[in-house]
Amino acid sequence: MKYLFGPVPSRRLGISLGVDLVPHKVCSLNCIYCEVGRTTNLTIERKEYIPINEVINELKEYLNQKPELDFITFSGQGEPTLNSGLGKVINFIKEYYPQYKIAVITNGTLFWKKEVRDEVLPVDVILPSLDAVSEQVFLKLNRPNKNLKNDKIIEGLFQLRKEFKGKIYLEIFFAPQLNDSKEELILLKEIALKMKPDLVQLNTLDRPGTEDFIKAITNEDLKRIKDFLEPLPVVIIAKAKTRKQIKSFNKNIEEQILDTIKRRPCTDKDLSEMLNLHLNELNKYLSELIDSGKIESDKQDRGFFFKITK
Ligand code: SF4
Repeated sequence: MKYLFGPVPSRRLGISLGVDLVPHKVCSLNCIYCEVGRTTNLTIERKEYIPINEVINELKEYLNQKPELDFITFSGQGEPTLNSGLGKVINFIKEYYPQYKIAVITNGTLFWKKEVRDEVLPVDVILPSLDAVSEQVFLKLNRPNKNLKNDKIIEGLFQLRKEFKGKIYLEIFFAPQLNDSKEELILLKEIALKMKPDLVQLNTLDRPGTEDFIKAITNEDLKRIKDFLEPLPVVIIAKAKTRKQIKSFNKNIEEQILDTIKRRPCTDKDLSEMLNLHLNELNKYLSELIDSGKIESDKQDRGFFFKITK
């Protein structure tokens, strides 16, 4: 499978089959915290970056086996709404496999385009991000394509809320001293109250981000922010279900990762190529191995290298 990955245990959606509609790393943002590396094509141009018919063929092959899934999720190594064929795949799933719920994990930057809003209307859950309201913080944290303006993005999200009948889980990623000031929190709360998402999910760094100066915000601070955002329905995104609860967790993959980095430390991209594993899927295993203390990461010129903990 070239464009499908998993099923992976997702922190937000349970057992989720990933569908990747853009190559690494096509995105409208270049967030400093991105876990899949620096954006190499910083664009807002929509086109068929990946041939949609091939994606549909893979889905047919996979879904005909009637897998047990909580969601089919558009996400991956870049921004899925940049693929102009997104609507076609969504309609295909809804028509031929209506038993599956669909989610779109998106950076939310393109909903000011009517065609993008129209294409996602049939899905069940949209998980857009909004990390900042003020343009200055947006530029620092998300480093957007030069044609994107945050007020236009926010207008697009309001419009989406009006037209979309499914659930919206708004994600806010927090980085200390970047978007956790009182002023920014007041603005974020104002916008979220107006947008009325079904849920606000607070997130922070889980594994090394693109830039090594970025750190995770503490749990205490996340709790403080959660209290501040009340009465909005807010959750701090919990760690994924543990591997014991996940049928799709593959012990062999874990061993292969450990075996490989025992010989020499590798970056996530090296590992993904060597083990022929989608970067997003690999990331779940790396997070689990870091949490269990079996591996650690080390920043070098070519990125973060994963190695066995000494
Ligand atoms: S975190 Fe998401 S939106 Fe930000 S650069 Fe990475 S893929 Fe793009």
